[in-house]
Amino acid sequence: MSATLLDGAATAAQIREGLKPRVQRLRDVGVVPKLSVVIIGDDPASHTYVRMKAKACRGVGIESETYTLPHNATQCEAEEVIDHLNVDDSVHGILLQHPVPKHLDEIRLLNQLSPDKDVDGISPASLGALVAGVAKFIACTPLGIVELLDRYTIPLEGKRAVVVGRSIILGKPLALLLLQRHATVTVCHTRTRDLPSVTREAEILVAACGRAELITGDMIRPGAVVVDAGYNRVEGRSGDVGDVHFESASQVASYITPVPGGVGPMTIAMLLSNTVRAAEMRLEMR
Ligand code: NAP
Repeated sequence: MSATLLDGAATAAQIREGLKPRVQRLRDVGVVPKLSVVIIGDDPASHTYVRMKAKACRGVGIESETYTLPHNATQCEAEEVIDHLNVDDSVHGILLQHPVPKHLDEIRLLNQLSPDKDVDGISPASLGALVAGVAKFIACTPLGIVELLDRYTIPLEGKRAVVVGRSIILGKPLALLLLQRHATVTVCHTRTRDLPSVTREAEILVAACGRAELITGDMIRPGAVVVDAGYNRVEGRSGDVGDVHFESASQVASYITPVPGGVGPMTIAMLLSNTVRAAEMRLEMR
């Protein structure tokens, strides 16, 4: 079998096009949707992601601004910036770029985000709301994965889904979303015994473990839908490498996401979509 590509780049482009008229409608009534990104420290990859997000915002007419704090910023300084953005009426979405330097309490910073502006959907309040099924904003990467599956009309209800990874930004919220969509979900992690025997049960398999090419073709059930959320830098290889070994996996899977061009663009599209929705929700509350 040779799998069909789940083209995240093309799907994300369609989503961005769909956002433009919504942004225009907001602008027509004097509301300019605005995303504020807070980045702390000088991790080059994080700065690249922030630049990509700012460019994507501009592309659909969302205003974006970046608050850059030095790597030795104190907890208090970081909290002050978030406090300021929480009360600034011109700001609709706030994103705290992950990771923050180790000396800072990231959960406390996320806890401080106004739930009405947490367009990245990973604050404890937003994650708790997802558990309760009442989330205003859902974490962008899990949301992007489910949106991509939906756009390819891949059914989730009743399916055996396996998520490899249990981070709070990806594995856990994705498992909850899939559960909400009536999949039967198993979550794997580093203590999972005999990972291949679990992944081979999956009709929907999501690799979100940050281990280059961990998932190989022999770990995949024939005909499974395989989503690769991984982005790994590997020495001696140019470009990013996914968590799935694409060559062997695409021989077994029915559908598969490429890296790059799969989950990554969908994540950014969901961030834009959440920001536009935040602005629309504020307008409705007026
Ligand atoms: P993370 O916080 O490092 O979490 C990795 C998870 O995978 C952990 O739960 C870990 O288990 C599990 N894991 C690691 N090695 C494993 C193994 N050998 N077998 C089974 N489980 C294993 O990573 P993350 O932030 O969720 O990111 C995961 C991947 O997605 C990375 O490649 C990252 O770059 C990528 N990512 C992509 C996007 C995007 O927009 N495309 C967004 C975010 C992340 P334990 O809990 O037991 O440690």
